[in-house]
Formats: sequence, C-alpha cells, structure tokens
Amino acid sequence: MKSHAVVIAGGGPTGLMLAGELALAGVDAAIVERRTSQELVGMRAKGLHSRTIEVLDQRGLAELFVSQGQPHDAMSFHETPLKIGDLPSRHNYTLALQQNHFERILAEHICELDVPIYRGCDVTGFVQDETGVDVALSDGRSLRTEYLVGCDGGQSLIRKTAGIEFPGWDATTSWLIAEIQTAEEPAWGFRHDTVGIHGIGKLDDGRRAFVVLTERQVESTAAPTLRDVSETLIGIYGTDFGAHSPDCISRFTDMARQAATYRDRRVLLAGDSAHVHPPMGGQGLNIGVQDAMNLGWKLAQVAKGISPDSLLDTYHTERHPVAARVLRNTMAHVALRRQDERSKALADYVAQFLRMDEPRKRMAAEISGLDVHYNLGEGHPLLGRRMPDLDLVTANGSMRVFSLLHDAQPVLINFGERSFDIAPWADRVQLVDAKYSGAWELPVLGAVTAPTAVLVRPDGYVAWVGDLTQEGLLDALTMWFGAPAVA
Ligand SMILES: Cc1cc2nc3c(=O)[nH]c(=O)nc-3n(C[C@H](O)[C@H](O)[C@H](O)COP(=O)(O)OP(=O)(O)OC[C@H]3O[C@@H](n4cnc5c(N)ncnc54)[C@H](O)[C@@H]3O)c2cc1C
Repeated sequence: MKSHAVVIAGGGPTGLMLAGELALAGVDAAIVERRTSQELVGMRAKGLHSRTIEVLDQRGLAELFVSQGQPHDAMSFHETPLKIGDLPSRHNYTLALQQNHFERILAEHICELDVPIYRGCDVTGFVQDETGVDVALSDGRSLRTEYLVGCDGGQSLIRKTAGIEFPGWDATTSWLIAEIQTAEEPAWGFRHDTVGIHGIGKLDDGRRAFVVLTERQVESTAAPTLRDVSETLIGIYGTDFGAHSPDCISRFTDMARQAATYRDRRVLLAGDSAHVHPPMGGQGLNIGVQDAMNLGWKLAQVAKGISPDSLLDTYHTERHPVAARVLRNTMAHVALRRQDERSKALADYVAQFLRMDEPRKRMAAEISGLDVHYNLGEGHPLLGRRMPDLDLVTANGSMRVFSLLHDAQPVLINFGERSFDIAPWADRVQLVDAKYSGAWELPVLGAVTAPTAVLVRPDGYVAWVGDLTQEGLLDALTMWFGAPAVA
C-alpha cells in the first residue's frame, strides 16, 4: 500500500492550495481527484478578493494570477457598489478571474512542486485508527496516510463518512445560470418581478449571453436543461429570445450549511466540504483558499513532529467563525433580493447605509476578507489580525513584509533597538531587525500604535505583539511553533 503523510481528497481550489502549502513545507502530500484533468464544467467563481490576492502574494504567486485577470476597484453588496480603492492593502481591488483559470494556474504551480495527483479516481471510503488513515480509491487501490483532508466540495464524502454533522438552512430559492446563444437580441440587463431579480449579460465574445434567472419554485435536484432555461425565460420575458446552443447550464440555491466540526481526529475538512452558501458576494472559493492557508502550515508542523496535534484544533477555532459570518452575509444578501414591498424597503435602507463611508468600508473589509480577526486574546489591535505588507528597511536592503513569508516560515520582526534571543527556535523562526517609519493602518480600525516587534505566522497573521517588553513571546513561540530545541 502506498503511503503519504497527507492525502487530500479533491483537487479543486482548496485542495490545490493546501497541497502547495504542504509541499512548500517539505511534507509528502498527495491529491486524489475525480476529474481526469483540471478542466471545469459549468460556471463557478468569477474572481478573487483582496485577502486571497494577499495570501497568494505572501507566497510570491500574486503576479501570476494578477497578470491573467482584470482588476476592478469595486465590489458590490446586493445592488450597491462598494468602492474599495481606499482600503489599506496593496491589493485594494477585486480581480476578475474565472475559476477555471484560477485552478489552471494553481495546478501548474502544484505540478512544479511535484505534488503527486491520483487523477480520474474517487476516494470511496476510509477507516482511521490511532496511527493513521486507510483511504480506499475507486480504482481498487488503497493509500495509507497520517492525515486525510476532505477538500471534496459541498457533497463531501469525507464529511459524510466521518459522520460530521452539516447543520444549516435548506434552500428557499434556486437560480438557473447558463451561457447561451440567442436568435434575437435579448433584453440585456436586470429585470425585477414578483419572483425575484433576473439578469442577462453579454459575454466577452459579444455573441453569447450569460443568464441568471430566479426560478418560480425551488429546484435543487435535477440537472437543468436548455428546455428549463427556455421555459424560465418565457415565464419572465414572454419569450426565450430563440435560446440555443448552450455552453453550460447549471443551478445554484441559497442553501447554507456548515460542518459542526472541521476536525475528527485524523480527518479534517476545508473549503466547500466544510461550508456551503449561495455565491452572492463571490466568497466561497476565497474562503476555501484561506482555509487552506490556515491549515497548511499547522498540518505541516504536526506531520513533521514540530507541534502536537492539538495545534490542529486551532484550525477549527479560527476558521469556523469566518465561514459562519459568510453564511450570515450571504443569507442577508438573499433576503435583500426578495421583491415584496417590505423587503424592497429594507434593501433601500441598507443601500442608503452602504453609501456612507464607514458602513461601506466595514462591509467591503468583511467581504474582501481583510478584516479577519482570529481571537488570540486581549492585547494590541494587531494581535490575531493580518500583518500589513509594510515596506521595511533591513540590513539586506528594502523589502516587503510579504516577501519574508515566501517560504512559509514564521518571522519575528524587531523594530526596536534591543534585539531578541530566539536561538531555541532558530531552525524554525526567522528573526529580522527592521526599520519602518510609516503609519500603521488596519482595515476598519484605522491607525494603530506602532509595535516594537511582531511575531508573524506563516499564514500572515500576527501571533504576538511586542510593546517594549518581551512578555509572552516565549509562550507564543512555543504555542505556535513547538517546544524550544534542546541545545
Ligand atoms: C454559480 C456559482 C458561482 C460562484 N461564484 C463564486 C465567486 O464569484 N467567488 C467565489 O469565491 N466563489 C464562488 N463560487 C463558489 C466556488 O465555486 C466554490 O466555493 C469553490 O469551488 C470551492 O472550492 P473547493 O476546492 O472547496 O471545492 P470544489 O471546487 O467543489 O472542488 C472539489 C473537488 O473535489 C473533487 N471530488 C469530489 N468528490 C471527490 C471524491 N470522493 N474523490 C476525489 N475527488 C473528489 C471534485 O472533482 C472537485 O475537483 C461559486 C459557485 C457557484 C456554483
């Protein structure tokens, strides 16, 4: 039986990102993926939010993606555009980039890292014991692994087999989406009626139309057909505009569910296998990639024996609230799309608020993921928040904070006069003396006082903040990066 330190079920955005993080840390990780190629059928994510671009930047990968996408200085909540050009991030824009391109670029990167991918087969089951997990594949082979991560999407077999509950809310509405050609000029733009909001947009080739149609009744099971699209168009517009030659037709609903736990001993869940919600706000892929960023370095340290496996529990503690909040904002989003007079009145009020500066910044920071705050206790506002990508001056010249994270190594950045002795962690934690004279500004919070030192985790979140003293530093180093090495 072949063995790997980590087996990842599913090579979508989350699984690919996680595999990259593990490979970077030198962990033997393999992906099992049902699809025979990275080709993606149907329409999925259309872009990346700021924090996702930032985490890619932390690995030196942002440019790869940015060069193939289209930046926009705004996002939207319901029908209100939210300008984000004034958010304090180098990447204060959204990047239009279709999920198939995102996956292609990431898969090429994984290929360069030599991650083995068992393509064209399913994980069909697994059994975990004290020391590992036996994973059964649909081609009859088995893999032995220390940890199995379910990145296998909303229908996750890993989640179901582990018996992890998936509580939440059933669908109240479904939408048909399709790329079609039409014999006549369709009614471009949005249309509101008593059923909901519908839209027809022109695709880049100027020939095909992209339709999103609210359905009269909730449909969630059957795979939709051109006939469904035609009938729904006729129900809304009185004509189907001669719809023909669909490139893809699919359906999504507003079902919102989240795994009760992201970990059952040696089995973990990430991405859609851990949380599903409607695509409003375009957050699903983004939070899956960020789940992977949070889990990757922790799992690597546990697999390498640097940290106890209790470190993995912090993955659930930190990431579960993030997806729970996305479930709430997408549910709110769906509620605002209702077309009864009371819901429309509420939507008008929400739009009024979102046009004001402060609410706009808050909502934009939430959807972009820039305001994520892991609860690491009381202290300086930076604690548990993303480290800003400052321009530092160091003994080796100028460098950006994010470039210090390219190898996924934690870093203690010392801005003070006194240096630090972290020799027992020197094999795991970089120490950089730096100068920075600019302002410290965090999304939503604004200016914060300059710390004298910060301990930054490989995922870019601040694990400890120094304020003239070193109090708590050794505890933070031990908690996050394992016991001190014995001299
Ligand atoms: C219409 C629509 C629009 C969307 N728009 C956006 C958007 O604008 N922005 C955004 O961020 N998100 C958006 N999303 C959500 C986004 O597509 C998902 O959140 C994202 O794909 C999740 O990635 P994942 O890797 O967790 O899961 P998936 O992409 O579902 O990948 C799971 C992978 O696992 C494989 N697999 C499944 N079961 C097995 C098995 N048993 N064994 C082996 N392999 C298996 C599958 O083949 C697949 O490759 C949208 C979704 C939809 C439906």
